[in-house]
Amino acid sequence: MIDLFGIARQTEFLRKAVDWKISKVLDHGQYILGPEVQELEDRLSEYLDAYVVTVSSGRDALLIALLSDGVGIGDAVAVPAFTFPATAEVVLACGATPVFIDIDPHTWTMDPNDLREKIEVNPHISVIIPVDIFGVPADYESIHEIAGPARFVLSDGAQSFGSKAKGWVDARALSFYPTKPLGCFGDGGALVTGDADQAASYRLLRSNGLGPHGQQYDYGMSARLDTIQAAVLLAKMGMFEAELERRREIVSRYDEVLQKHDQIIPQIIPTGVQSAHALYTVRSSSRDKLQDRLSEAGIQSKVYYPIPVHRQPAYTYLGAVCPVAEQLCNEVLSIPCHPYLTEDEVEKICEVLSEPQ
Ligand SMILES: *Cc1c(COP(=O)(O)O)cnc(C)c1O
Repeated sequence: MIDLFGIARQTEFLRKAVDWKISKVLDHGQYILGPEVQELEDRLSEYLDAYVVTVSSGRDALLIALLSDGVGIGDAVAVPAFTFPATAEVVLACGATPVFIDIDPHTWTMDPNDLREKIEVNPHISVIIPVDIFGVPADYESIHEIAGPARFVLSDGAQSFGSKAKGWVDARALSFYPTKPLGCFGDGGALVTGDADQAASYRLLRSNGLGPHGQQYDYGMSARLDTIQAAVLLAKMGMFEAELERRREIVSRYDEVLQKHDQIIPQIIPTGVQSAHALYTVRSSSRDKLQDRLSEAGIQSKVYYPIPVHRQPAYTYLGAVCPVAEQLCNEVLSIPCHPYLTEDEVEKICEVLSEPQ
């Protein structure tokens, strides 16, 4: 079976480096906020040219950013209808209300026009959380223009470590969940910001609201990244750029094949940005048949996401209207584009993609 994420192959490849890094942690025994956490934050900070605060997961990164911004009861937060449910769940966790925004039919990221219309109806929206779905950066330039200076733009970059976006955001949340472009061996995440005070606030919130001298001003969370996970990520960081380059190569092969196909349509990457290629996702009106054909050829594929978030039982009472997201959920299919695919495997996937529907 050609695996969707290729984690076992990557582990095999990096086994020695990871074992060595983990054994160093066992030697010093500082399992919480040990030296590897600082080393990773420094490394990520250099790579992203911003302050980086590692945390326990992508979900907790989003929640900490909202808590730090003072989001609470009575606030409305704009989220796209097509995303992993955690993007909206953190809004509930703060006591605020999500406002679901439809997506662009080509890029599948938050539709700025729908955002504008929904802000007109809901002027109380204080925060906007665009999602870089499957690694493709959201349209931050347009969103920022619509948001205005008073609204906080929090990028859900859980799937987009390694991408290059256009436009400015107040903060960005990353996830190191094992299947994300940079994944650890468990849960992990980070917050990225250009603001030193904001980074300091995130540090307080991830450690029970305790400051560097043990002073407590408010409550926080117990949401640090484990030292062992930081060690795993450090071992993987060295390979990351080469992996991304390989993903790009594979994706351009698929794109080439699908150019001649008018029934299988890939996600569109806008000009001027770079995707992290977390997943290669296509839409097709005969999605289930395509999935059957891939499965017969021994190729794993998966539907991300079968249910638009506004149709989840937790949110139906809101009565949100997002028709593009709804249709997309019936048509999308994600196929393997991980960097450990062999040439033969890429060829095999191209063959199935090029067959008539
Ligand atoms: C994975 C993911 C999250 C949550 O990240 P975790 O690390 O699993 O908590 C949030 N948003 C999106 C878009 C995701 O893909």
